[in-house]
Amino acid sequence: MTLQVFNSMSQEKEVFIPLTPGRVTMYTCGPTVYDHPHIGNWRCFVVFDTVRRYLEYLGYEVKFVQNFTDIDDKVIKKAEELGITTEALAEKYIDVYLREAQTLGIRKADVHPRATEHIPEMVGLVKSLLEKGIAYQVDKDVYFDTTEFTSYGALSGQELGALEAGARVEVDQNKRNPLDFVLWKGEKPGEPSWPSPWGCGRPGWHLECSVMSMKHLGVTVDIHAGGIDLKFPHHENERAQSEAVTGEPFVRYWLHNGFLSIGGERMGKSLGNISTLEALAKIHRPEAIRFFLLSAHYRSPLAFSPELLQSVESSLDRLYNAVSALEAAPLQEGQRDPFMESAVSRARSDFRNSMDDDFNTADALASLFDLTRDVNTAISRGPLHPDDQAAALEVYRELGGVLGLLGAASDTSSLDDISQGLLETLVEVRGRLRDQKEWALADLIRDRLLEMGIHLEDTGTGTRWKRR
Ligand code: AMP
Ligand code: ZN
Repeated sequence: MTLQVFNSMSQEKEVFIPLTPGRVTMYTCGPTVYDHPHIGNWRCFVVFDTVRRYLEYLGYEVKFVQNFTDIDDKVIKKAEELGITTEALAEKYIDVYLREAQTLGIRKADVHPRATEHIPEMVGLVKSLLEKGIAYQVDKDVYFDTTEFTSYGALSGQELGALEAGARVEVDQNKRNPLDFVLWKGEKPGEPSWPSPWGCGRPGWHLECSVMSMKHLGVTVDIHAGGIDLKFPHHENERAQSEAVTGEPFVRYWLHNGFLSIGGERMGKSLGNISTLEALAKIHRPEAIRFFLLSAHYRSPLAFSPELLQSVESSLDRLYNAVSALEAAPLQEGQRDPFMESAVSRARSDFRNSMDDDFNTADALASLFDLTRDVNTAISRGPLHPDDQAAALEVYRELGGVLGLLGAASDTSSLDDISQGLLETLVEVRGRLRDQKEWALADLIRDRLLEMGIHLEDTGTGTRWKRR
């Protein structure tokens, strides 16, 4: 099977053919850095990290860009509330993003551009739009004239009238048409601003992704991704302002993830129903959170509940237990076991078929559980051939790696400095308790850590720990 992806533009699954054979360019709209991301946001970043990993697994050379929105109304408001600069606020939450992303096994992008580092390019794009007569200036503001871009609305797939009627179109009396959007906002007292031919001001939100995508990935990008709420107006506007200037397609495949919900409602900061990684990681292995976020197809809604996350912990244990059982299984040379050989090759082909079907991670995970059932059966029957053992371990490593699970997301670096320091202190205290033959207390520490997914191993040279 070849890779098929659902393109929000055509509303159909299409065979994936990148612009340049063997290479994929991919842009994901990144976080607005004014607060901790919630796990709805993390769904988006985990999903597209997995898409990137799968494309690489298929042999593509992927260039992956994800921006930081470090200036917008939310950033300005929060910085003002805290009495700090927008730069200091953004810096803090860029660090938070990168640290939490690492905890979830999300790889860094090849480029993490920031909006404020691309102001001259954004000014350049607005200038071109004005020169072409597709934008107009009102006082110190500049707007995009949506009536001048004939395919406006094609991505959202809605009639323009319906878009106009939607509540999400910003009301502004300076606009010629209700759907027009701001490209450049004239400066307001106390707000950060940059010079431009229209006076000091700051760029409209949509501008940054057009500029950063084209600068770092070329005029046409293969994949542009984000949450479904970004389809309109953000992506519609990105597309309009980019294509109006270049005359070339801006994006070949638009990918949008569905919402993570809680209690039947979308998780969102403004709704006050968020769960952060910081809070969840006190109870759950980060890897289990990643597993949960991949447990549904990325376009489907995903309902969050503490019970579900708990059940995911047991599922993850089942996979790890099978890996441990394989590692510890008695071995015997001789004939290879056809049952194991076909279980391994079936796991690989089922996994690929699922991921080729628009990155169906839910079914891909199911293929790992089918493998686990077969591995457990084979182990219960008797010793394994060493090659069967090695092949099964390899397929767990390979397929787990594509999903960022089973080791790829569970190295020791996923602990922050404080947690790591505390863990080492506990290990030392437990060592002293054991020296004093305080076995019950020493075991209590070991058991509590195990509940948190930290496995202590006493060796001749001291105690080692690993995350499980
Ligand atoms: P933001 O930091 O608000 O710009 O959001 C970062 C990304 O998270 C965007 O692509 C959003 O569409 C996405 N997102 C926000 N809320 C959710 C949610 N509840 N479920 C899934 N994705 C979300
Ligand atoms: Zn964007």
